[in-house]
Amino acid sequence: MSKTIFEKIIAREIPGDFLYEDDLCACFRDINPGAPVHLLLVPKRLIPRIAEAQDGDQELLGHLLLTARRVALEQGLGETGFRLVINNGSDGGETVPHLHIHILGGRELDWPPG
Ligand code: IMP
Repeated sequence: MSKTIFEKIIAREIPGDFLYEDDLCACFRDINPGAPVHLLLVPKRLIPRIAEAQDGDQELLGHLLLTARRVALEQGLGETGFRLVINNGSDGGETVPHLHIHILGGRELDWPPG
């Protein structure tokens, strides 16, 4: 199976602007930011979308949420706030089939999304 673009970024086969990385996940800037801070946090192990996560992924998913919190706070978003988004499937707006959490902040975000 061919690699997803996020697997290629993690493998340094294509460039990524990394802010954080550990054994389980990596965080880099979105190439087409929708807010002053727009980061993507992705697990290194491929899970195509949250709908395909398994019970055994509980620890990884918890780690992703706590890492998203950590990165958002490191970006100075703790006071003003931020948003974490997971798009799932075509109606959910998922364009890269590799689970990722969008970390968005740096401006007041609209709600509900379009
Ligand atoms: P999705 O629509 O939730 O699947 O989000 C995919 C995101 O990946 C979009 O916000 C894209 O701008 C972003 N993206 C696509 N290719 C790259 C890349 O090469 N580097 C960083 N971000 C990317």
